[in-house]
Amino acid sequence: MASDPQSTPPGGGFLLAPVGSQRIDTAEDFSDEQREFYRAAYKFAMDRVYANAARIEAKEFPLVRQLLREAGELGFLGLDIPEAHGGLAQDLTASVLVAEAMTVLGSWSVIIGAQVGIGSLPIVYFGTPEQQARYLPRIATGEIACAYALSEASSASDAMAARTRAVLSPDKKHWILNGSKQWISNGGFADLFIVFAKVDGDKFSTFIVEKGTPGFSVGPEEHKMGIRGSSTCPLVFEDAMVPVENLLGEIGKGHRIAFNILNIGRLKLGVTCVTAVRHVIALSTGYAKERKAFGKPISDFGLIREKLARMVALAYAGEAMGYRTTGLIDRRAALGGHAHGTPAFQQDLIAAVEEYNIEASILKVWGSEALFQAADEGVQIHGGYGFVEEYPIERIFRDNRVNRIFEGTNEINRLLIPGTLLKRAAKGAFPMMDMAKGVGAALQGEGLPAAGSGPLAREKRIAELNKYLFAYATQVAVEAFGPGVAEKQEVLGALADVAIEAFAVDSAVTRALQQPGPVAQACASLYAEEAHQRAFARARAAVLSAVKDPAAAKKHLSRLARLRDEEPGDVAAWREAIVGPTLEAGKYPLAWA
Ligand SMILES: Cc1cc2nc3c(=O)[nH]c(=O)nc-3n(C[C@H](O)[C@H](O)[C@H](O)COP(=O)(O)OP(=O)(O)OC[C@H]3O[C@@H](n4cnc5c(N)ncnc54)[C@H](O)[C@@H]3O)c2cc1C
Repeated sequence: MASDPQSTPPGGGFLLAPVGSQRIDTAEDFSDEQREFYRAAYKFAMDRVYANAARIEAKEFPLVRQLLREAGELGFLGLDIPEAHGGLAQDLTASVLVAEAMTVLGSWSVIIGAQVGIGSLPIVYFGTPEQQARYLPRIATGEIACAYALSEASSASDAMAARTRAVLSPDKKHWILNGSKQWISNGGFADLFIVFAKVDGDKFSTFIVEKGTPGFSVGPEEHKMGIRGSSTCPLVFEDAMVPVENLLGEIGKGHRIAFNILNIGRLKLGVTCVTAVRHVIALSTGYAKERKAFGKPISDFGLIREKLARMVALAYAGEAMGYRTTGLIDRRAALGGHAHGTPAFQQDLIAAVEEYNIEASILKVWGSEALFQAADEGVQIHGGYGFVEEYPIERIFRDNRVNRIFEGTNEINRLLIPGTLLKRAAKGAFPMMDMAKGVGAALQGEGLPAAGSGPLAREKRIAELNKYLFAYATQVAVEAFGPGVAEKQEVLGALADVAIEAFAVDSAVTRALQQPGPVAQACASLYAEEAHQRAFARARAAVLSAVKDPAAAKKHLSRLARLRDEEPGDVAAWREAIVGPTLEAGKYPLAWA
């Protein structure tokens, strides 16, 4: 992969550069090797996981452990692990593609996600050479199953308020842990737990805790709405004796591990939700073609076609954001020139993930909500059959619900999006003021994005207007509240929604400009049209939450109105351009694998 500095804008850079001005990585750019990883993993997932879905859903954990070992033998547990420790040391894009292939069953996706992600990456990125040598080879083969224990019964969003404590034993040979953890994925069968606890009650730190540690026990399984085949358990530490050499990273620096690993988790969760949207499209299309009502297939009905077209446009925009971000992280990490899997490279990768944490939060929120919308409409297309267990759409609908809750709730991630941008702006690391000035000047003069000509001209303008909406509404909020804006959640949530749509539209339009085609262009147009209306409504909500004086509010609203595109678009034609090929293919029509 090329390491051109021009191709690594700063985090949040999508707000700064004109749409299409910088090439983004897209599905069309995947290498043969990356595609092969996906295909091989998908074959394994279908043959071994999906074929055993009923047994996995019944929590047959010995089978799950066997499947983990089989996945390990095929290399699917070692993509992020250095070669020296039995892994394949691949880039993030390949690792994400394998995660996508595993989405054939939500429960399995969570199980393997905890294994290769939150449960083992802390050792990959922050472990000592001894810790890595001791654990990673057996994690790569699936001999060791992993879990990540941050949440507690009284604190999960507020993770730093954890009460689990660690003190050094008098002989200085052990850390003695006391406390409990809640909601731990893979808890019921894991051998190794990444546990966060406060040294002496105040220094947030990370420990590797092995199953069988004296004083450590795992509580009963939760009975869940979805992902029922995954294990979710509480953990209890009663004077648990953890060897001193199992401290991971530095005392008091546990937050670095916790949050950087979560950023990778958020990104993967967002991308895999988009994969699941593609599954929903295939299921819904197949059903809509078969099912007849009023003497014709329901796929003939405009209201069904509208739902299918919207799902496809969602998948298109989601893929555009996801692969753009994994590509950015891979390129940024490659800039240091260090070989994959070396400690220096691992540091570069973590720094790259941190740089694009805004994009990771956007993907998490957008992906989980896009899948929620698609799965809901998928159930609707299936009518009564969508409500019964025999049809896989029922399980997808249930399984997805938790995606808005874990890896940081969507509320927490929404707050992080403008919150991080504002913090960077305050440090001079993001030119928010310049953006605001640019919009102010444009509104005064004639500098607003003009309707140009050429492919996707209207959509390019919309992409720019979304960024203007974000900059203008943010400026109004900052003027109204000063630094106190950080506490105004309704305003931040609305600003986050504008930023999310700005990223989605910019990515979808850039992708369609890079790889034009009738379906791609129609997806970009349809998504841009609907997203712009949402972005406008949320910018308006932010302004109205910030400005109480009616006259001032009116002035701002009239300015906002000038940032709304009013050009008519042929929504029906875009819809048909998408639905025809979708029905013909019987699935997402732009499949790349
Ligand atoms: C199936 C499942 C698997 C899980 N796996 C793991 C795992 O492997 N490891 C692990 O450590 N954790 C895991 N979790 C925990 C998960 O990360 C938490 O449930 C999640 O972070 C939410 O925390 P909570 O449940 O305590 O809700 P709370 O934090 O109590 O939140 C309740 C509501 O209040 C909102 N809220 C909270 N704080 C704020 C705020 N400051 N501003 C605005 N709104 C706020 C939340 O968004 C939410 O809507 C898992 C959870 C589930 C359900």
